[in-house]
Formats: sequence, C-alpha cells, structure tokens
Amino acid sequence: MPDQYLDVFLTKEDFMMRDMLRGFVDKEMMPVRQQIDEDKDHVIVRRILQGLTDLGLQKSPFPPEYGGMGAKSAVSAGILHEELSRGDSGICTACNVTGWAWIPAIAANNKAVLDRFAPEFTGKELRMGCFNMTEPGGPHGGGGCDIENLNLQGRKIRTIAKLEGDEWVLNGQKMWASNCGVADLYCMVCTTDPNLGDEGIALIYVPKDAKGISYGKDEHKAGMAGDKNHSMFLENVRVPKEWRAAGPKIDAELFHNNCVIGRLVTAAMAVGQAQGAFETVLKYTGDRIVADKPIRQHSIGAGILADMAIGIETARWSYLAAAWMYDHPEQYGPPMSQYMLSKTSIAKVYAADMAVSVTNKAMELMGSFGYVREYDVEKYWRDCKIIQLWEGGAQLGRLDVCRGYYDLNL
Ligand SMILES: Cc1cc2nc3c(=O)[nH]c(=O)nc-3n(C[C@H](O)[C@H](O)[C@H](O)COP(=O)(O)OP(=O)(O)OC[C@H]3O[C@@H](n4cnc5c(N)ncnc54)[C@H](O)[C@@H]3O)c2cc1C
Repeated sequence: MPDQYLDVFLTKEDFMMRDMLRGFVDKEMMPVRQQIDEDKDHVIVRRILQGLTDLGLQKSPFPPEYGGMGAKSAVSAGILHEELSRGDSGICTACNVTGWAWIPAIAANNKAVLDRFAPEFTGKELRMGCFNMTEPGGPHGGGGCDIENLNLQGRKIRTIAKLEGDEWVLNGQKMWASNCGVADLYCMVCTTDPNLGDEGIALIYVPKDAKGISYGKDEHKAGMAGDKNHSMFLENVRVPKEWRAAGPKIDAELFHNNCVIGRLVTAAMAVGQAQGAFETVLKYTGDRIVADKPIRQHSIGAGILADMAIGIETARWSYLAAAWMYDHPEQYGPPMSQYMLSKTSIAKVYAADMAVSVTNKAMELMGSFGYVREYDVEKYWRDCKIIQLWEGGAQLGRLDVCRGYYDLNL
C-alpha cells in the first residue's frame, strides 16, 4: 500500500475504516457529486447520509451502554473527515456536525440528555445534530469570531439562558451553524450572564420541536451545498435544567474542547478536498497533450504538481500529529488547553490555505476544463474556501497559533 507510512499514527482499525469509507465515497458519492449543488431539497444528500448511518458512523461516538461504540480517537476522526471530504465536504460537514453537537454531553456523561436523545441517534434512522455557536454581530460588535475567541471568555455571547424553577429559558439568535434548520437536536452555546465570563458559558440541549424556535432562510452559499445553514431565533424556549451539558466552568472547558476539535477535523477536511482535486488533475495532465507531450511531462507542469503534493502531505502530517497529541493528554496536557488550540490552529490554517492554493493550481493546469462542473475541480475550489473563513477565520486562527508561543497582548 503506497501510503502505509501513515501507520506511525493510524491503527489497523483506522486503515480498515479508511478503506471502507474510500469504497463508499467512490461508489456512492463520486457518481453524484456534480448533482449536489442542484439538490435543493437534499434528496441525494439525505440518501448518502442514511448510507453513512447504515455504516454505523452516527452511533459510533456514543457509549456502548447506549448502543454506540465509544469512539473517541481524534486520529480516526481526522481520517474520517479527510476521506468523506474527498467525496463531498458539505456532506461530510452535515454528517459530522452531529457528532460535534454530542461531544459535550458524552464527555460530561449527562445521563438526562443521553437517556432522552441517544436511543434515537444510535438507531437505524438518520438523525442530525447542530452545534449552534455563531451569532450575528451588533452595532457595537460581537457575534462571529468574537463568540469563539477564547480570550473574550464568552463575554460577547448574547444568547441568554435563565434558570426559572426547574427549567432553562433561552432567548437569542444564532446564525450560520451547520445543519441548523434540519437538525433534530441542538447544542446551544449560551451564557447565563455575559459579565461572568467563562463561568457564564452554558451548553444547553434543545430539541427541534421546542416551543419558541423559529428559523430564517436557507443561506445560498458559494459552495458546501450539502450543508444547510438557517438562522435560528429563540423566544422563551424552555427545556429541563438537566439538559445543560455539565455546569459552570465545565461547560466552558467543553466549549473550548469543541473549538480545538473543530479546528482539527476541518484541517482534515481541507486535506481531503485538496487530495480530490490533486487526483483529478494528475489524471488530466497525464492525458492532455500540449506541445507534443502530456502536461505533466513538461517541467513547468511537474513543478506545480510537486508543490501541490508537498502541500497536501505536509498538511496531512500536521493534522495527524496534532490529533495524536490530542489523543495523548497524559503526555501533552488537557485537550482543551491553549497549547492544543495553537497546535490544531496550525494544522487548520495551513491546510485551509493549502487547499485554496491547490484547487486554484489544479484549475490552472486544466485550463477551461478545470472551470466546468463536469471535471469536479471547480466544486473542490468552491467548497474549500469556507475552511479558511470558519472556525475563527484566517486571522483569529493565526492569533490562536501565536498564543501557544507567547503571551499575545490582544
Ligand atoms: C458553511 C458554513 C458552516 C458553518 N458551520 C457552523 C457551525 O456548525 N456552528 C457555528 O456555530 N458556526 C458555523 N459557521 C459560522 C462560522 O464559524 C463563522 O462564520 C466564523 O467563525 C466567522 O464569523 P464571521 O463570518 O462572522 O466573521 P467575523 O467574525 O466578522 O470575522 C471577519 C474577519 O475578522 C477576523 N478576526 C476575527 N477576530 C479577530 C481579532 N480578534 N483580531 C483580528 N482579526 C479578527 C477573522 O479572522 C476574519 O478574517 C458556519 C459558517 C458557514 C458559512
């Protein structure tokens, strides 16, 4: 196997999962990926998501006593995101944000949330989750990156959770979150009081049919059509007090953990997108003859292909190394630390920039054929841009890198 060298990080089971997903992507996703942008009602998307549910992906992170497999490995999660994103990163997002929403409740072993909702998510039918963090900004700032800027300690969160008797009462507005509008269960990032900072951060689970929820329009994006992103409005939404993930301080740590893992898996997604574009252009430049020989036999073309391969391999090593560190807290400290956020931000910022550059170069090498839907590259190009923009964007990501090295005074 040409990429057997990855066994530095991957277990035998990881290789088996990777090969299974690679087969699924080639059989179920590649033949229909050009139709996904037109699949407004998500008929194709849901069929593929159901296929992934049949493979056991939906239930895998749940504890065995709830019918899951207790999957925890960040290395395995990275491989999964890379493989699915070679097929379609929108579908990868829709599939895996469900797990992201569940991580806090599973990590906190919140029996009330698990008892009520886990049986549905470990069953045979597709269920979707949403980790609802981002908010709109206001005239005085806030929203967007300010929510996930851990230095701001949740002081910019404006979705307020008030405890009234045995219930949380939620009011506020969210935007952009993946699966928002189609999810069955929402993990809402709230604050009990913005002035409390991290102490106020509260992760509260809300089912889709709770009274007081309404949704905005289906956002029309440049790419990532496999993912739906409606705004969400909460007006006096009531849920039992036990549906808070854990409690003061611990919820902040769980939130930080989700920011760390979010950076990590989206780095892997960018690698999968770039890999898909690379495979397409490698074949194309072998077939297309210019000035009497295949494009890839011209030294100028070979140099570009080499740069693409260097970027992809370097990004893959970077996310796998960060995932390995995340999986070994006994050696590298708590997964939600500033140190780990810096490491996963390095992987994410580098991989996102690399994917934008690789898909751009792939298009150059294919000329007009790179620009048409039939050859797949333009979809990778459109889909990968968001990885630079989400999860803190390019700039906050870089600030988080610095924070792992020195006391950045910002
Ligand atoms: C397809 C898609 C899926 C998404 N999925 C989710 C999801 O599942 N859950 C969720 O909660 N959100 C989700 N988002 C939202 C996304 O994470 C946010 O849009 C993103 O974090 C940035 O917020 P913003 O777009 O408002 O940018 P802004 O906050 O307005 O940032 C604009 C620019 O300012 C920079 N910047 C930010 N802070 C600083 C600073 N301190 N100093 C200097 N520069 C700074 C940014 O890096 C960026 O370059 C999704 C968005 C999309 C489009």
